[in-house]
Amino acid sequence: MITPIIDNDKINELSNVLLRSNDIVITCHVAPDGDAIGSSLGWYHFLRKLGRNVTVVVPDMVPRNLHFLPGMKYVLVYTQQPEKAAAAIENADLVFCLDYNALHRVDKLSPIVAQSKAYKVLIDHHLEPEDFCNLTISHPEISSTCEVIFRIIWQMGRYRFMSRSSAECIYTGMMTDTGNFTYNSNQPEIYNIIALLVKKGIDKDNIYNLACNTQTANKLQLNSYAICNKLELFPEYGAAMIYLTQPEMSRYNFQKGDCDGLVNVPLSIKGIYFSVFIREDRDFVKISLRSQGDFAVNTIAAEHFGGGGHLNAAGGEFYGTLDEAVAKFREILPLYCSKEEVKS
Ligand code: 5GP
Ligand code: MN
Repeated sequence: MITPIIDNDKINELSNVLLRSNDIVITCHVAPDGDAIGSSLGWYHFLRKLGRNVTVVVPDMVPRNLHFLPGMKYVLVYTQQPEKAAAAIENADLVFCLDYNALHRVDKLSPIVAQSKAYKVLIDHHLEPEDFCNLTISHPEISSTCEVIFRIIWQMGRYRFMSRSSAECIYTGMMTDTGNFTYNSNQPEIYNIIALLVKKGIDKDNIYNLACNTQTANKLQLNSYAICNKLELFPEYGAAMIYLTQPEMSRYNFQKGDCDGLVNVPLSIKGIYFSVFIREDRDFVKISLRSQGDFAVNTIAAEHFGGGGHLNAAGGEFYGTLDEAVAKFREILPLYCSKEEVKS
């Protein structure tokens, strides 16, 4: 029912490493999203069922709408408990790197992970993984790291050890990384996997409610303000831009994650295939890029904003003022979007 797409030698190596490891740390990328924290906690619950001592360490805060995930209260946040988080990694004999393809993606945890003597395993779905782990399980053709985690458990023949908590976390990341199964979601086996997760007793409707219908009024109002007042369309390029200053965000008591999803909104306009959201952060300007079809935004993120990501969802950082970042976007737009292509 589930095609064994993961290399069997890698599955065997992973099984062997798990047999000889006791103190396990799971890490995921900075600004964790549903897939990063869902895969970490899904894997955490599974490894605990196998009797291992496991700690999830994240570089910074998990957005509030993901706090419902079982196991969240045991997660160590480096920015809140740096000594404890660093000690967990230093004392681990096995470290998992989930949902990221490059060490710098764990931000201030990078040197700690780099220096750790532990055996390291990367499990991810971003393109072109860096070679910093002993074992690399990378599947960019799979829409979420959570799905890769499910497939690993399945291929190990350990589905029966998956608890409902593990299934809830895995489902959450599969859902959020596909925009609730509205993109990157045409592989039929995704739905076989969902069926196997529902069989574990998850309430998928409630997971959607908890992840998506628990926003604050401030968040809704900030997003509405941005759409009403800050949306700029470039119909000749099939593109759209929204940018927000710090004072604008402060007006709505901006909390981390409050603009997640805003970049997708302009894509709902007929004729818009490329969207950018530019947000003034404390030390840098954050760029989020989204597209539809085969227009690649990860190359734009890599070439101009020191970032990367997927074909249709990417991001990066700009070191300069917000105005400079906006000017840069205006400047590069014609280089990537041809007027003829949009018309055709
Ligand atoms: P978002 O726009 O939601 O912050 O990020 C979308 C995707 O772009 C992420 O899943 C990640 O793959 C990628 N991404 C975002 N920011 C960065 C960055 O600063 N560097 C890299 N390499 N990738 C990023
Ligand atoms: Mn992901």
